Amino acid sequence: MASADNCRVWGALLVAVPLAAAAQPFSFDHAPGRLPKQIVPISYQIAITPHPDRLVFSGSETVRLQFRANAATIVFNSLNETLRDVRLDGKPVRSVASDNARQLTTVTLAAMATTGVHQLSLSYEGKIETAQPVGLFLQHYTKPGDPHAFMLSTEMEPTDARRVFPCWDEPAFRATFQLTVTVPASWAAISNMPAVSRVVHGALATTIFGRTPRMPSYLVEFSGGDLRSIQARQDGVRLGIWAVSGRQREGAYALANAGTILSDYNRYFDYRYPLAKLDSIAIPSGFSGAMENWGAITYTQQALLLPPGATLGQRQDIFSTQAHEMAHQWNGDLVTMGWWDDLWLNESFASWMAAKETALRNPSWKWWEVQDGDKEEAMSADAQPSSQPIEQHVTDELQASNAFDPSIVYSKGQAVLRMLEAYLQPEVFRDGIRRYIKARAYSNATSDDLWLALGAASHQDVAALAGPWTRQPGFPLVSVRSSCDSEGGRTLTLSQQRFLLRGSDPHPSHWSIPLNVRTGVPPGSTTAAVLLRQDGQTLSAGRCDQALSLNADAIGFYRVRYDAATLALNTRQFDLLPDGDRIALLDDQWALVQSSAAPLPSYLALASAMGADTDSRAWLQISEALSSVDDALRGASTRSAFSAYARSLVQPLASRLGWNAQPGEGPDIQSLRRRLLRDLGKWGDAQTLATARQRFALLSKDPRGIQTDDVRLVLTLVALDADEATFERLHAFARRMHDPAMQRAAYMALMQVRDPKLAEQAAQIAVSNEIPAEQLQMRFELLATLEQEHPQLAWRTFSARASALLAPYGTYEPYMLAREVPAMFWEALPLPQLESWIRSRLPAEMAPELARGMEAARFDQDEHDALRAEAERFIQARAHT
Ligand SMILES: [Zn+2]
Repeated sequence: MASADNCRVWGALLVAVPLAAAAQPFSFDHAPGRLPKQIVPISYQIAITPHPDRLVFSGSETVRLQFRANAATIVFNSLNETLRDVRLDGKPVRSVASDNARQLTTVTLAAMATTGVHQLSLSYEGKIETAQPVGLFLQHYTKPGDPHAFMLSTEMEPTDARRVFPCWDEPAFRATFQLTVTVPASWAAISNMPAVSRVVHGALATTIFGRTPRMPSYLVEFSGGDLRSIQARQDGVRLGIWAVSGRQREGAYALANAGTILSDYNRYFDYRYPLAKLDSIAIPSGFSGAMENWGAITYTQQALLLPPGATLGQRQDIFSTQAHEMAHQWNGDLVTMGWWDDLWLNESFASWMAAKETALRNPSWKWWEVQDGDKEEAMSADAQPSSQPIEQHVTDELQASNAFDPSIVYSKGQAVLRMLEAYLQPEVFRDGIRRYIKARAYSNATSDDLWLALGAASHQDVAALAGPWTRQPGFPLVSVRSSCDSEGGRTLTLSQQRFLLRGSDPHPSHWSIPLNVRTGVPPGSTTAAVLLRQDGQTLSAGRCDQALSLNADAIGFYRVRYDAATLALNTRQFDLLPDGDRIALLDDQWALVQSSAAPLPSYLALASAMGADTDSRAWLQISEALSSVDDALRGASTRSAFSAYARSLVQPLASRLGWNAQPGEGPDIQSLRRRLLRDLGKWGDAQTLATARQRFALLSKDPRGIQTDDVRLVLTLVALDADEATFERLHAFARRMHDPAMQRAAYMALMQVRDPKLAEQAAQIAVSNEIPAEQLQMRFELLATLEQEHPQLAWRTFSARASALLAPYGTYEPYMLAREVPAMFWEALPLPQLESWIRSRLPAEMAPELARGMEAARFDQDEHDALRAEAERFIQARAHT
């Protein structure tokens, strides 16, 4: 098998290059990879002419190569390309052997070539992809008067540049690229660099783009089609937002953001964005997420264009995605990880920087509180015994796209960087980042390069502090025991162990933990930074009658278990604590309940101490926890009693906020209002459901003038207890919608219907042709929503057509099967049956991912059972008081 071959190549490399290579400053010779390092590309000249009618393109390429030793063969990457007329220094070579399974071409030269510079030239033909956005791909979209419109674009990361041009397709092989494309003269053509010439000949035009700086092959970009742009200048850089013709004005928001973010990043890094222009290209449908190609970032359309009537969530997605991709222009493009092991240097970094920038420029979004939701998701993945570290060893670059758990590499990495920034102090941390960028610009880096730079800026051993956080999986639970002296002074005794939702730590882990300790409540509180290095460490912490937080402002990536007396004290003074401290307490206490380390009432006591306070992240946390308990009681006779209890917790604030936005209200309060109303409806509040029906009657007459977010709420509430006639009206409403966001809201609402017969209808709608071709991923998401109340029905519907439903996820399909499908369907059928169903559809190398997915599913099931038992005890105890 191909992967076994690759592993042997890798094994041979490991003999020469010990594993410790990953933990040293970057060196080209020691960077892992499959390609030999004796021949290195200096510069590429690539010319491509697509033939979309035949789904192929023709290409020619000249690569200047540095031979670091005499050689008789040249090895590089290629995939699905037919190479012709291969020459070295103009002379024909002896043989060319391309192996698509190994994605390698071996050229045997007519004679030994000597050390020095040589020139490889060839012509070739490659495939235009349509099934997935990989390599050079064709993207269909609909536009008025043309149902068959299409554009071309590229997606190279991690290993698909080799589909577009033969190359040294590993991140350490930096070179310059000059691209020439020949496309219809009516098309716009965009690449990393500005065009230097454009010649029209008949119906075609040939554009030559400027030569890029030295960069990895996975950052090369080309897009072409009937595209238009709006443009601006900032800090001497031309900014452009591109969209299919007619939609470019929807890029105005993104254009303004790009200017703000560029100048903020120029200042933060103290290193100006080095290219003359930065384009952002919106790709309709199909393409998922965004890609940080240097100078030409590609985005899925919804992550860049803001249509009229867009929701706050869409604005947040656009700003934060731009902030992420633009951060990559420095961390990723200017400085690139040496090998995929250090992908976190790209992704954790861009995520952290994006969150910092989004928070800075949109204070009303309370963005760090929003990010606490992602951090909790990462912590729950990382609290499974088989979780992976931030630095994930990749033995074969062909597995790079499925090797990483995004919640770890993006969200945990972001949180760990934030914790480190707070501990080292933001200015010191920034100075370290500046040193790192300056030292590694136009080159590659490992984690150790970052630690060295931060160490030089802070005069601390940052590698010793930070290494365990990135190299080992999991995170600590800090246990706090307090004792009081005769004067009431408090001494804490601290210990740590890995926090796991189930099971025990197979190899006891240890961290140096940067604690942020707050004693008392503001304005009279004090905070102290303390590094917890060893078990039994003691600390004096104010007085025994003062509230105590060991994770002030919820910045740390660890959990805290307080002794009973301190927890009781914190619960009594809960309403006086700062928002971040309350969020950390709620998060931690709920996780302790989930792991059966604390009883449910200990968490509910904190939740009920919120009263009518309006902190939206705290309430979201409570809403999710109460919903988990309520879901666990599905089918139980105690469910209605628990639903009534849950209503009583949120009712005081819901009544205060009402249905209508107040003048001057922040966006977080608006989304909190909707969340609480939705919960009240789900938990059976008759008044809320009645109001929703009245609003739906008005909405059906005139959907204009009501925010999409409000439409979503009303439709969901109406769907919950819909009868047949109401369901039909909702369905008609969904079919009438043309705006994608409204349409999505309407179909999602249909999936929430409780009535089993109507749910059958909803399932059929989810997989029908009604769902527009541009939103095919939505079918799977609709079933995920349906599953919440109707697990078996959702499973029957999904399993009958699984490959069609997962196909729109492209290269992520194996990941979806291994991780998302167990998370979604653990309730629907016995787990061994689910596991063997998935296994029979999954490539063998995904077995570790499936093991993780099944482990999480088993945990979900155990948690569900445990919560159900806890909740029944709680309800019975209430009935007897
Ligand atoms: Zn990224």
